[in-house]
Amino acid sequence: MNILERLDARLALSDEERMLLDSVKALCQEQIAPRAADYDRTGAFPWENVRAINELGLNAMFIPDAYGGAQLSYRCYLACVREIAKACASTGIIWATNFHAIKPLIEYGNEEQKRRLLPRIADGGLASLAITETSAGSDATGMRTMFTPDGDDIVVNGGKIFITNGDVADQYLLFGKWSKIDDPKSAISVLILEKGTDGLRFLGTENKMGTRASSTASLSFEGCRVPRANLIGKPGDGLKILFGSLNRSRPSIAAHALGIARAAFEDAVDYINERRQSGRKILEFQGIQFMLADLASELALCESWLWRVAEMVDAGEQDFGVEASLLKQRASDAAMRITTDAVQLLGGYGYCNDYRVERLMRDAKITQIWEGTNQVHRQLIGRSFLKK
Ligand SMILES: Cc1cc2nc3c(=O)[nH]c(=O)nc-3n(C[C@H](O)[C@H](O)[C@H](O)COP(=O)(O)OP(=O)(O)OC[C@H]3O[C@@H](n4cnc5c(N)ncnc54)[C@H](O)[C@@H]3O)c2cc1C
Repeated sequence: MNILERLDARLALSDEERMLLDSVKALCQEQIAPRAADYDRTGAFPWENVRAINELGLNAMFIPDAYGGAQLSYRCYLACVREIAKACASTGIIWATNFHAIKPLIEYGNEEQKRRLLPRIADGGLASLAITETSAGSDATGMRTMFTPDGDDIVVNGGKIFITNGDVADQYLLFGKWSKIDDPKSAISVLILEKGTDGLRFLGTENKMGTRASSTASLSFEGCRVPRANLIGKPGDGLKILFGSLNRSRPSIAAHALGIARAAFEDAVDYINERRQSGRKILEFQGIQFMLADLASELALCESWLWRVAEMVDAGEQDFGVEASLLKQRASDAAMRITTDAVQLLGGYGYCNDYRVERLMRDAKITQIWEGTNQVHRQLIGRSFLKK
């Protein structure tokens, strides 16, 4: 076993979790990975993969048993994200987005909301996390979507851009501002908008560099009436819920990035063990060994930190925002570096789409941008050392 395989073997999973992870690996190998190049080329939404994931009942692993799920550890969830992303980054982010959008409902929703809304997702429904707007990117507090209370309803007006699963979701975790609160930060609130609500329109999807088969949609809300019963927490609780949720979705983004990185690393290692120049395997050149050593160190350290943060979450720790930022930033930078160097290690072939490292390099780029750009994460990490 090499060092990365030894790290995987040491991952503390129960027998049930190990079996599930093995089923996910088999599904990825037999179905998801072989379809990835075609989905990347056409940009079509990978419904076959979503159906196959749902046949394994994977959404249930992050939903408590009381609401139709069969909850497993966060570690096991991250291991599955990494495995699916390794096979197809688009499918990986589609599935992980279900978790990103639904975890806040599990954490902050009331009993009635959870009983009513969670079983649909446990059964394989798709979810979206809708924060970003044209005026609100890195600074989410610039959002303009407005929630206006009206009797038993909340009337929603506004729009969102860049929403993963935005045109296919059954439920949206939607952030906006409460019309009756003036302060822009204190006004941020969050509700669940359900598919089919009058006034919800899809304006289109993006044609992207990577993760091309995951849909990234623009939405508009024109007088959407949402029952007040779908408000999560109280008016103005949005920012607290947003920060609490991002701490759990950022390790998930890191797992996604590390799946892409691992695929590129393994492909490069296989290639340079086979390809010969000047009478030797490429891997026999010392300059290449140094390069590979740097990539392997980066990957091993990021993966170790992924499992360390997962342990903190599974142990119920609450204060791990800086740890999550550090993980997201380093794992996504590693994914970009490792995929770029994998292209280099394959030489001219790496630049052509007969080999998947070309796709992996395009897929890796977004991981440095979404869920807080890496500039924003560096700022959060740096700021944490400011003395009061
Ligand atoms: C494919 C894709 C899927 C996405 N999915 C979702 C989704 O499901 N839900 C959702 O809500 N959003 C989603 N997003 C949006 C994503 O989270 C934002 O694009 C991201 O937060 C950056 O915002 P922005 O694009 O407006 O960039 P900007 O905020 O305009 O940033 C532009 C540049 O300025 C830098 N910058 C900004 N502020 C600072 C600062 N304070 N210090 C230093 N540098 C700074 C940034 O790092 C960046 O380099 C998605 C985006 C893409 C492309």
